[in-house]
Amino acid sequence: MRPYSDRVKDAGRLLAEADFILIGAGAGLSAAAGLNYQDPDLFRKCYPQFARLGLNNIWEAIVAHWAPNDVNRRRFWAFWSHHIQTIRYDAPPGTPYLHLSRLVAGKPHFVITTNVDAQFAKAGFPPGGLFTPQGDYGKFQCAVPCSGTLHDNRDLVQNLLTNMDDASVLVRDSDMPRCPACGDYLERNLRRDGHFVESPHMETQLAYAEFVNRSFAGRLALLELGVGFNTPGIIRWPFERLVSHHPHASLLRVNLDDASVPVGIETRSIGFREDAAQVIQDLLHRLP
Ligand SMILES: [Zn+2]
Repeated sequence: MRPYSDRVKDAGRLLAEADFILIGAGAGLSAAAGLNYQDPDLFRKCYPQFARLGLNNIWEAIVAHWAPNDVNRRRFWAFWSHHIQTIRYDAPPGTPYLHLSRLVAGKPHFVITTNVDAQFAKAGFPPGGLFTPQGDYGKFQCAVPCSGTLHDNRDLVQNLLTNMDDASVLVRDSDMPRCPACGDYLERNLRRDGHFVESPHMETQLAYAEFVNRSFAGRLALLELGVGFNTPGIIRWPFERLVSHHPHASLLRVNLDDASVPVGIETRSIGFREDAAQVIQDLLHRLP
């Protein structure tokens, strides 16, 4: 890899010259913003009752509370109400997200992210330019689902937490969120299986496709941040294909673990194995 300062300089120039900027963000960007699901210190500080249960980080706790059933439901919602409150509602917009919004200000841009933590929205990115195909921590849907309606969950989450028993780490049965239409349980609006309600996200998917089409008229910079190999078919591989098919596209890939690019698009790509927060800040400082 070439020296960092050279890569930042070239990346800054590509962004400055671009007519369109497409941001693709994964878990690595929120980790760089302080919401690191593998950080044991963050977990002990913000999830002490779950650390006492023997869990070590947020990711472990998510796996331990993967799906609700009749046996685990009160503990399941104890974790998820606490997690949603902490990440979706209490966490302020992270510095890299705020810097990103300044980095692309005044230039046509669009965001696709697998993150469900609303960090882009908190940092001021408009909802119409934000495609979140994996769902939204701030929404519930019917578990069946009996309809495609999404429900804002702030009050439901708050109610679960208010009545949670701290010693047993259990919520009350009577507080379980229920679908107002059919009476079945409500669920998180997360893409996990065929029950995912995705129709509300389709409108922004269309806007995403239109943005990509429009970008063929000019120079496009793809800024990929913290996208790993959990779901590479959503951002990582499509970005590579787009760069190889687009007449004037370049890929800036920021990834602590794997910033390599496939053969064929290396000359149009710059990889960064450096911390995303640092790279974004340095790119911001290079703005004309
Ligand atoms: Zn229902």
